[in-house]
Amino acid sequence: MLRHLMYKIKSTGPITVAEYMKEVLTNPAKGYYVYRDMLGKQGDFITSPEISQIFGELLGIWFISEWMATGKSTAFQLVELGPGRGTLVGDILRVFTQLGSVLKNCDISVHLVEVSQKLSEIQALTLTEEKVPLERNAGSPVYMKGVTKSGIPISWYRHLHDVPKGYSFYLAHEFFDVLPVHKFQREHIAMLPRLVLNSRAQVFVLPQHPKELGLQKTPQGWREVFIDIDPQVSDKLRFVLAPSATPAEAFIQHDETRDHVEVCPDAGVIIEELSQRIALTGGAALVADYGHDGTKTDTFRGFCGHKLHDVLIAPGTADLTADVDFSYLRRMAQGKVASLGPIKQHTFLKNMGIDVRLKVLLDKSNEPSVRQQLLQGYDMLMNPKKMGERFNFFALLPHERLEGGRHQRNARQSKPFASLVAGFSELAWQ
Ligand code: SAH
Repeated sequence: MLRHLMYKIKSTGPITVAEYMKEVLTNPAKGYYVYRDMLGKQGDFITSPEISQIFGELLGIWFISEWMATGKSTAFQLVELGPGRGTLVGDILRVFTQLGSVLKNCDISVHLVEVSQKLSEIQALTLTEEKVPLERNAGSPVYMKGVTKSGIPISWYRHLHDVPKGYSFYLAHEFFDVLPVHKFQREHIAMLPRLVLNSRAQVFVLPQHPKELGLQKTPQGWREVFIDIDPQVSDKLRFVLAPSATPAEAFIQHDETRDHVEVCPDAGVIIEELSQRIALTGGAALVADYGHDGTKTDTFRGFCGHKLHDVLIAPGTADLTADVDFSYLRRMAQGKVASLGPIKQHTFLKNMGIDVRLKVLLDKSNEPSVRQQLLQGYDMLMNPKKMGERFNFFALLPHERLEGGRHQRNARQSKPFASLVAGFSELAWQ
């Protein structure tokens, strides 16, 4: 990967951080996500569905709750973006089976959007019925098809726009944080004496990591951070600043007050597509990820073997990620659908009844190791110092869902309608 990037930079000049992330993570021949299983204790990072089955079960309840609240349609698609090992969708489908009497007249299909060849194979192993052979067609937008263990049709796509536009519930867990970001630094006078002109591509050199530079606003405006080869060390990469404006600057808000920002145009494109679909056919989207509400600055980082990893060293061997800017997702949905959140993971899971579910599972098990695993998993998901406060939930819903409708509101309910969306307020089963 390093050689490939060096060759690219030598032939066409420094690349944006977004281009770097995209190449490193999803290059079809060598991308980090394409040919490896990086999840779990043996991998580079662990996610909530891999920690506890309760996580997926509660998300399954969320979708059923929305399906019931919006009139129990006769069919829906469950669409997951970036399904990892398929654990989350597997836990959700188990809940659908357990609540079979509620869903018995509903035709469900599963649609997975996945770029990774390796992970899509693991998803198929986790989710599909061995006796029904998978249909494969690498050249088609639907590159794999099968039937789940509970008899539901399941299909794989590389892009969301290839998923059929039916009534759908969408899920994206730790997906938006791997989408490529452009990074910008507000140029300021104090750093000018420290800049050097790069003769090859006319790019200014940043002597340190961007966040270490002092902050002092000047009228010069934004400069995009690029990645270049270090002239002192031939096989090393370094950050540099563009000498003039670049097109992605258009994604920065006019009234932006931060001095360092990350913008993710791909996230905007996906939220727009989800919003259009939900506005057109109904349904909902649930996004869960670590992130902020338009306040953080430099969050681009790498993970390898559960430890922080320098993003420029040994590209392709570590995960690269940037916090999700939920304020941007909300802006991109505005006018098309309503949004709820972001709210903290511990609040969302508490509202969804995690304590009750934990108690049921503990009561059912006499095995000390299982009980310990359940309690440890709960702590990891809920503890504010662990995942409880770092992860957020955010939802897109049709406007009518929050405005209320005849079948959704009865005369005794006086609360504003948003409070009846499970997870974003306490769960209210009827
Ligand atoms: N949701 C899972 C996995 C998160 S890791 C979990 O929580 O356990 C990110 C996932 O997104 C992986 O499955 C990865 O292969 C996939 N992915 C990364 N970039 C993608 C892209 N551009 N399009 C579709 N899937 C992508």
